[in-house]
Amino acid sequence: MSREPLLRLTSAGLYCSRGGFHIDPWSPVACAVITHAHGDHAVRSSRKYLAAASGKLILQHRMGPRAQIQPLAFGEKLNLDGVEVSLHPAGHILGSAQVRVEHKGEVWVVSGDYKVAPDSTCEAFEPVKCHTFITESTFGDPHYHWAPQSVTYAAIHDWWRENQSQGRASLLYAYSLGKAQRILAGLDPSLGPVYAHPNIEQMNELYRQSGVALTATRGWNDTSLITDWPRALILMPPASRWEKGLAFHGHYATAFASGWMVLPDEPGKRGVERGFALSDHADYGELLSAVAATTAERILVTHGYIEDFVATLKSRGYDASPHKTPRCKKPPVVVRT
Ligand SMILES: [Zn+2]
Repeated sequence: MSREPLLRLTSAGLYCSRGGFHIDPWSPVACAVITHAHGDHAVRSSRKYLAAASGKLILQHRMGPRAQIQPLAFGEKLNLDGVEVSLHPAGHILGSAQVRVEHKGEVWVVSGDYKVAPDSTCEAFEPVKCHTFITESTFGDPHYHWAPQSVTYAAIHDWWRENQSQGRASLLYAYSLGKAQRILAGLDPSLGPVYAHPNIEQMNELYRQSGVALTATRGWNDTSLITDWPRALILMPPASRWEKGLAFHGHYATAFASGWMVLPDEPGKRGVERGFALSDHADYGELLSAVAATTAERILVTHGYIEDFVATLKSRGYDASPHKTPRCKKPPVVVRT
């Protein structure tokens, strides 16, 4: 009889039966170890949560005030029925963690979402050695390569200045949790006032309360926006309906900050004029480097270009296989020219 793997997929998500816990389950469970607070990794109503201490305020906000969250410092070891569990920085958003699980010398690491580019608003990604590595592959295609972020921020600043010269406000769309704060930390506040939509400002506040220094932002309904309009940069969640409430103030330009903006037709599809390829995930080359740094013999690929990335890894000599879950969405087809 074959031995049960240390982690296996169940109807609720990835499960460790020896330790009695799930990792990022999509249904409520008894004990959920959470990699980070994004909605596709953390759901409400589990009896108990284990998560990185630095992201506790954010996770509490997302899971509700009654959720029981046990915070763990990065690297702190917890023994759950003989299984050692520890969390290690994933560099994705504040408090995002890779989960290391060890039993009788066998080590698995679940990456969650991760990025390796520097980001002053969260802990830096840390490679963790293991035997089996479950990696995400959101951008696991050679088409995805990020420019240095200094280049991307320079492009955002140029766009902002150009809009100012034309008397237009700059509406920059970005995911409320993680991306908006990273942008805020990279913006030059001397260029003009920065306003934030309430959904984003709520996250900014949680970051500030968690000890992350962020540039001061002005509120969405701040009346100074009327006079500041042509100089303002306004951070918006990615849903175009939000801008309707602002339109009466005057002309504006729109842009979206996301790794998907590498694809030429993405800005148009999202109804914006410009795209800035700034991602909270590793690009293709960074994924390959991260996998190599784990020294893992076996790689399970989830969340993204699963088949393509498995094939890439196999061609490089890895024992790689797909790890498909109901949360894995089909990524856009990359058109090769
Ligand atoms: Zn995420």
